[in-house]
Amino acid sequence: MTEQLELKIPEGINYECSGCGQCCTGWTVPMTAADHARVSSVDWGKEEAQYTDIKLFRQLKSYEKAGTPYTHAILPGSDSFCPFLTDNLCFVHKQYGAKFKPSMCQLFPYCFNETPSGIYTTVSFVSMAVIYNRGLALTEQRDYLETKLKEFQALYPNHHPNWSSLQLAVGQPMTWDDYLRHEDKLTNILKDCSLPLEQRFLNGSDYLFSQLTAASGSASGKTFEALPAHTTLKHLDRHLLVALHKIYFPAKPLGQGECNFNIFRFCYQLAYQGTRISLPTRSFSLEELHEFPWPQADQEIEDLLFRYFLSRLFGKLYFGAGFGQLSLITGFHHLILVLALVKLHAKAWAASRQATQVSMLDLVVAIRELEKRLGESKLGGYEAALWELLMQSRSRMRRVLSFA
Ligand code: SF4
Repeated sequence: MTEQLELKIPEGINYECSGCGQCCTGWTVPMTAADHARVSSVDWGKEEAQYTDIKLFRQLKSYEKAGTPYTHAILPGSDSFCPFLTDNLCFVHKQYGAKFKPSMCQLFPYCFNETPSGIYTTVSFVSMAVIYNRGLALTEQRDYLETKLKEFQALYPNHHPNWSSLQLAVGQPMTWDDYLRHEDKLTNILKDCSLPLEQRFLNGSDYLFSQLTAASGSASGKTFEALPAHTTLKHLDRHLLVALHKIYFPAKPLGQGECNFNIFRFCYQLAYQGTRISLPTRSFSLEELHEFPWPQADQEIEDLLFRYFLSRLFGKLYFGAGFGQLSLITGFHHLILVLALVKLHAKAWAASRQATQVSMLDLVVAIRELEKRLGESKLGGYEAALWELLMQSRSRMRRVLSFA
């Protein structure tokens, strides 16, 4: 079945490995049982003295491996880099070739999402080459991407997401063709570079609501509204932003039960905790970050944000089977909150290094952190229901976009 589906490749996204080594740091590199048997069969101490008497692998804990094909992980060094990275080159690859590396390393940064209209390719924005759009356009690498798809399917043979219960909003079913029509419209709205990205997102939200009112038989009224110049956040807006910031930009490594949005933790936070945005070194009030300048008309920054969100939209990784069976409106609004969080987090990094405004570097750090966590986060049924309640609000999205 899967082989008959067309491979869909996004336009405007380039990637070729530039050998910077930056993908090999800051996260757990998982291994299947076969990866572990293969790579750990080598006496690495004999290959290179630096590996003598070093523990290189660990077993994954049961909650880490649940629902994954992985059993082990490479233990990072004290600098948080993979120990096999030497002189920005993979030592496993150098000694034994690409096929000897862990499956995840062979596949990275490619990801594929199977849908009724084809298999949609995305690349991870953890990669610096993807961040800076370096190398050949993905559209010119079809043959290579077909081989990567086969590797993905071998690693994830059960990846057949169920797209059969799509909803525009709760109680408002839509077909896959309906969805594709909405995606086409949202893509065109986001591509309108004559408007700030925040306004384009708001227009996307307004478009979806106009479809909702049209579907329910009401007059759709005015479609697009201008983003207000100033706004204040409401109590729930603030807590929602901070709760999401804690899981997408954790200031310290997350333990069991802390990796995903949790309804009980959210209620506890609402009742007892403050609303500060934390980095490993210090924390900021939302007002401090609101006041911190965001660069105007910085083409490089705007281009990165635009490509990042267009890639998420193309990959369909933000709603339905891609994200906890969320309705399209809630999934799109989740992207709006993510845009606000990326901006706030980049501002926090800039403020922490006492810069006067956000630079490309701050945004790169924020997007790479986010990308690592978004790929790992899961949304349970109760949490998805709460998101439907919290993220349906158009006025909340307007406040958040205007505030960030
Ligand atoms: S095994 Fe090689 S490719 Fe994989 S993370 Fe380590 S250095 Fe990078």
